[in-house]
Amino acid sequence: MTTPLPLEGRTLLITGASSGLGAHFARLAVSAGARVVLGARRVERVAVLAQELGQGKAVAVPMDVTDEASIIAAFDAAEAALGPIDTVIANAGMAAPGRSTDVSVEALRQLTDTNFTGVYLTAREAARRMIAHGIGTRGRILLIGSITAGMTGQGDAAYAAGKAAVAHLGRNLAREWVRIGITVNTIQPGYIATEIAGDWFDTPGGQAQIAAFHRRRLQPVESLDGAVLYFCSDASGSTTGATLTVDDGQSL
Ligand code: NDP
Repeated sequence: MTTPLPLEGRTLLITGASSGLGAHFARLAVSAGARVVLGARRVERVAVLAQELGQGKAVAVPMDVTDEASIIAAFDAAEAALGPIDTVIANAGMAAPGRSTDVSVEALRQLTDTNFTGVYLTAREAARRMIAHGIGTRGRILLIGSITAGMTGQGDAAYAAGKAAVAHLGRNLAREWVRIGITVNTIQPGYIATEIAGDWFDTPGGQAQIAAFHRRRLQPVESLDGAVLYFCSDASGSTTGATLTVDDGQSL
């Protein structure tokens, strides 16, 4: 007898699938039996990833989470290619590093449009479609927050505050859709090597930050796999409104 794969039969949409965590989650989901829709602005990147994952397993769609029309069009294209979406990972995000006295209002607006409004619009479009298609208790929405939601620093105030808002948004959306059976949960990862930090971790300051982590390393991206599979699978049906920190102990 073979054990069924945890995401067998599921169809996921992942925002920000063109690099970093999102691309990793896409590979993970396919290896766990799911079909995936890869959303990002850099369509050429998601197209290459979709090809790698295989025809019938993955499709790439252009998606800008700061633009509601783009989100709606991405869901339309996703449904046309793979049918109703039962699982969404709202992962797209950006940083706007700098002291709050220096950050431009344009950078601040782009950050909040992406990291908060983008997550809100993605989650609600997902829920609207799940409700319309009668996905009910199979519906899964996973938000990607950050450990910075509970931390203070010198140079990412809006990012950290926005991630705190994401976790609270998750609880509120979970409450709103609890009777329908759609779950909404948030994972808060620690610092992981991706494009979001640029070359920061190669600088003396970044190296000092790594040296100060208890395990003296950046968090391996694979360390998120168990939590992602759980929150996206049937197994988490009774877990909703949760915020789970998976950070390699960095915030301890
Ligand atoms: P990357 O920079 O590698 O990936 C960010 C992704 O977000 C890209 O795929 C990018 O795609 C996408 N994105 C950015 N803006 C938009 C937009 N307007 N519309 C659609 N997609 C967008 O960084 P990570 O993989 O690290 O980041 C993924 C998530 O993980 C973010 O929410 C981040 O805050 C969070 N996180 C990361 C941590 C880390 O240490 N790496 C720690 C904790 C949380 P494109 O540019 O092609 O649109």
